[in-house]
Parts: sequence; structure tokens; C-alpha cells
Amino acid sequence: MQCKSATEFPWAGSHPWDVDIAIVGAGPAGLSAAIRLRWLKTMPPLPLSACLINSGPLGGLAQLGNSILTSPGLSFPAGELVKRLKRDLQKWPLPILRGKVVAVDHKKDHFKLTLEDGRQLTTLAVIMACGMLDIRNMADFWRQGVVATFGNRENIFTILKKELPTCANPLVVGGRHLRHLAKTIHTLNPKATLVVPISQQEVEESSSALIMGELQEIKEKDGKLVAAILKTAQGLIERQVDKVILEFNSLELERSPLPMGVPSQKNGFMTTCVHAQDVTPGLFGAGDCTGPPFAAVVALGQGAEAAFAAYRFVYEIKYGGKPALFAYYGDSEVTDTLTERDDFPLHGKLVPAKLIHDCPLPELNPAWSLVDGRRSIAELSKEKGLGEKELYGQLRKLIQERALTFCPVR
Ligand SMILES: Cc1cc2nc3c(=O)[nH]c(=O)nc-3n(C[C@H](O)[C@H](O)[C@H](O)COP(=O)(O)OP(=O)(O)OC[C@H]3O[C@@H](n4cnc5c(N)ncnc54)[C@H](O)[C@@H]3O)c2cc1C
Repeated sequence: MQCKSATEFPWAGSHPWDVDIAIVGAGPAGLSAAIRLRWLKTMPPLPLSACLINSGPLGGLAQLGNSILTSPGLSFPAGELVKRLKRDLQKWPLPILRGKVVAVDHKKDHFKLTLEDGRQLTTLAVIMACGMLDIRNMADFWRQGVVATFGNRENIFTILKKELPTCANPLVVGGRHLRHLAKTIHTLNPKATLVVPISQQEVEESSSALIMGELQEIKEKDGKLVAAILKTAQGLIERQVDKVILEFNSLELERSPLPMGVPSQKNGFMTTCVHAQDVTPGLFGAGDCTGPPFAAVVALGQGAEAAFAAYRFVYEIKYGGKPALFAYYGDSEVTDTLTERDDFPLHGKLVPAKLIHDCPLPELNPAWSLVDGRRSIAELSKEKGLGEKELYGQLRKLIQERALTFCPVR
């Protein structure tokens, strides 16, 4: 069940599937999940393979505004939270695919993800962290042509009154509720285009000029907004625009459709969350895509929680036992009869596979150069030059460095 798009994965070809855990979206929720999965804990149990698939900027909405997590004592200026997360991601890297996931197919024992450009990926677990909207390249023009409503009820109107009359071809992007602002918007600027995720029938029934669809991409010329590509039922259309207004109130009330196959509530947000993975075992949700409250601190927490849950789910499938996650879940295997056992005891039948492209420490190169994702430790120990004890020692250190996983135990 392997797919072409995964050829860039360092572990390509070692497992029957492309990646153990795929994370969809790289805002605070997705980044938190990715880092938690790669780093896991200070005394590392066994790393698994993971990748991020993201259609927008790394950091999602937290790249745009300040992130006040709990109160002024825990706040980050715009982009600073993301910078910190990126730093950790550089230390414990994982592949990041640029693209939009359009379908999540639940097969008998795995998931098949389909991207907008046709690429496909198979995975044992999925963490949906795709926020409340597909941001694409909107962040590149933030406050330079792209603005948003925020704050309180009154401020929504203050912003619309300030922004709409001063431009020639504004585009207002929002959720279904945006219909209720159509008259105000068109009074302020009759040439405004409203893009809403409603049905064609609702568009026809509306007395205002609405376009059913979503914003796909913004185009610029000499650093200025000139056009927007909109995805509609009739296909992609291009509109001249000189300003894009994101109407967050309506985006928060109802989400535009999630990728096909992802269960959603009446308001469009994801049904499943960390504690409700029974809806679809192996499919986890975190952050804004699971509904309100929309906040970076919630997204970070749910991302970490989804990562632990996905880790436990996949670990059992791959290795047939429970992972040692003392400090987060407790470890019932610690008893009088168990003395000084490893979190993950290495043995000859295990087949190591690389999680990163380059050897993390030069002194571990002898074992690193042997690992090919096909041969077991017993087979590798027959190679000349590196004794069995040294091989085991180096493999242990490579696990500490989060550089190795192992193929599923057969
Ligand atoms: C101006 C502003 C100020 C804010 N201030 C605060 C604050 O002070 N405190 C606070 O706690 N919160 C604040 N927030 C909210 C906070 O930023 C969000 O709640 C948080 O970013 C949500 O994180 P997320 O990872 O769930 O989603 P997002 O940050 O939205 O990230 C989701 C990512 O997934 C991508 N994506 C979407 N669909 C797909 C798909 N199908 N396939 C692949 N990728 C996809 C998106 O393009 C995006 O990159 C603010 C938001 C804004 C806009």
C-alpha cells in the first residue's frame, strides 16, 4: 500500500505503509503534535515515523497575530510562538509536505490520504489539525492587502466601515453567517465580492451577490494584490481584487467542509477529538478544526494530547504491546518482578529504519551506515568491523537521538 509521494521519506520502503502517523495542518496544533511525537519525553521510548502535510504557512494563524496563551504573563508577539516551535522542529525534524489534503479514506487497517494535486499517502493514524480555514498564501499579504475582523461585535463594523470604502474590488471571505452582513457590505462597497461556503441553491435564493466557494490563492504584481483565484462548483475562477477581508466571526460559527471522509458536526467542525477516537479508531483531531474555543493554547494542548494518543495507538499495532509512557499515563508493567527493564528492549529480530537523512553524531556512523530498513539487527551484527555489543550500544544512542524507528514486528 505504498505511494509514490513518500519517496522523500528517509524510511521509504521499510514499512508496508508510507508513514506511521500523518499530521494534517501545521499551525500550533499540528506543530505541537509533531514536536511531541518526535521528542516524546526526556527518557525516550521508541520513536515512530511522522510527517506534516500543510497547505498554509508553517505556524498557521499564530503566524499572523500575537499569541496570548493565558494572560499577559504568557504571551508571544506575532510569529514568536511559531519561531520557538520551529526551533524544536529543526532539532527533531520530520518531513513536511506542502499541499492540501482533500480526502481521508478509512481502510480496514490504515488510512489513505489524497492531496489536491493527486498525491496519495498511506498511514496508520491521522491527526487532523487543519484549523478553521485553509490559509494558503493569505499570510504573505497579512496587513498588506489582507485584513481581518476581530475583537468584538462593534469592532466588526468599525473594520468593515474603515476598509470597504477605500478599495476598488474588495473580497470578503467568511463562513455561512457572512450572508447576514451582505447588505451592510454592499452598502459600504457595491463592488464587494462575498465568498461563502453555501450551496448553489442558497446563492440563487439570496438577494445579494454571493459566490459559493473558497479562496484558493491570492495573486500579486509588484507586491500589490491584483487577483484572487476562487474554487467554485463551476471550477477555478479569477477575480480582480485589491483587498481581502477575512470575516472571522462567521468563520468561527461554521467551518467550510473538512476533507472528505472526516466526520463533522452540524457546524462543520470535526466530530472526533482526542477522547472520542472511537468514532474512527486512529483518526484524531486537535485545535481549531475541532471547534471552539479557538485559541493557540487550546491548539497546543490538544496537539500534544493527540500526539500521545496516536503514539499509543500506532505503537500497539507495530509492536504488539503498550509503550512505556510513565510520567504521562503511568506504567502498569513496573512491578516487583520487573527489574531494570529497558523501555524498549532491543533484540536480534528487530529491523531498524532511519527517521532522518543524516547521521546525528559522527561517532554513530558505523552502525548508521549499516541500517537499510530491511536487515535485522542479527543480520547487521554479522557485518565485519563492528562487534555485536558496540552495534547494540550505537543503536541505543541512535534511538536517544530520535534517529531510528523499527519495522513492525511480524
Ligand atoms: C489575528 C489573530 C490573533 C490571535 N490571537 C490569539 C491570542 O492572542 N491567543 C490565542 O490563544 N489565540 C489567538 N488567535 C487564535 C490562534 O492563532 C488559533 O486558535 C490557532 O492558530 C489555531 O491553531 P490550529 O493549529 O488549530 O489552526 P491554524 O493555526 O489555523 O493552522 C491550521 C493549518 O492547517 C492548514 N490547512 C487547512 N486545511 C488543510 C488541509 N485540508 N490540508 C492541509 N493543510 C490544511 C492551514 O492552511 C494552516 O496552515 C489569534 C488568531 C488570529 C488570526
